Amino acid sequence: MNKVLIIKTKEILKISSLKSGEVHRFHIQLSDNSLGVPWRVPLIIVKGQEKGPTVGLTAAVHGNELNGISTIFKLIEEIDPKKLKGNLVLVPISNVPGYLMNQRYFSDGVDLNRIMPGKEKGASSHIYAHLFIKKIVKKFDYLLDLHTASHGRVNSLYLRADLENEQTRTLAFLQNPQIIVQKYEIQGTLRSWANENGIPAITIEIGNPSAFQHSLIDETLEGILNTLRYLKMIEGKVKDMVTSATICDHSYWLYTKKGGVIDVLPNLAEKVTQGQIVAKVYDVFGQVREEIIADRAGIVIGKNINPSCDAGTRVLHLGMNIISPIPESIPGSKQFNPTDV
Ligand SMILES: [Zn+2]
Repeated sequence: MNKVLIIKTKEILKISSLKSGEVHRFHIQLSDNSLGVPWRVPLIIVKGQEKGPTVGLTAAVHGNELNGISTIFKLIEEIDPKKLKGNLVLVPISNVPGYLMNQRYFSDGVDLNRIMPGKEKGASSHIYAHLFIKKIVKKFDYLLDLHTASHGRVNSLYLRADLENEQTRTLAFLQNPQIIVQKYEIQGTLRSWANENGIPAITIEIGNPSAFQHSLIDETLEGILNTLRYLKMIEGKVKDMVTSATICDHSYWLYTKKGGVIDVLPNLAEKVTQGQIVAKVYDVFGQVREEIIADRAGIVIGKNINPSCDAGTRVLHLGMNIISPIPESIPGSKQFNPTDV
């Protein structure tokens, strides 16, 4: 076991000060918790033997979204720092209080992925977010933010990325996911902050919360290794530069109007047609109270798997306006030049 160093709240870790060709581990201290001691974020830096870009991976920004933790652990085992060009900055648990409480939110009930870059003075979540960006994320040249579905729901392996931007489109296609959602940026996400601040970033949604799903983790890992090959950080041939993913212009959730026992019918990544019955809400005597109809055609990105539902429960996450195969209107969609990234 290697030593883990503590970087105090007021200190900033400099990658340039670290020994090349080695793996370094740190506790990065952020804001104080109610024990009067700082939250400590675990950070692993794989410092390459030679110079190159710094790729950041963040997992568990939502504290119960855990597949990214295993993805990072497996990545560390795959990489030989003596053969790496550039650096990997890996954050297996970004939202430490949320992880401890097995919940999406920070300890004050705030979603960290809606308040980035936080505030120097403000609520506890805001101070934590501010220091997280300042001490960790600002080191990145590229960001892959690893998420999953929320509690009670399941996801396919899908990405959110801006496909109009050449750098983020390239990052997205390198992952070869099932589905890409070209969603408009939600303000306050880690991804949107990074993209606005010159760090090309995509969000990778890996399956389900509170679990390790190794087939999806291995697929995600392959996409990350492909990215590192593309950036010439590791040896090997780049694969899957033309995506076979279903690309959606945007996505939205269907909700129940009535409460009861819900059964959601389509499978993940299944295409549904306009007018198709996608879920039934039963009363507690087995009689159908409501049929949920897809009001437009789409593809199933995620779905509710918890049968107990109140009125207003999320049912099905549908990708809409499917635009694959990739049209001419997305610039550079036919060929890529590695020097562009
Ligand atoms: Zn998330």
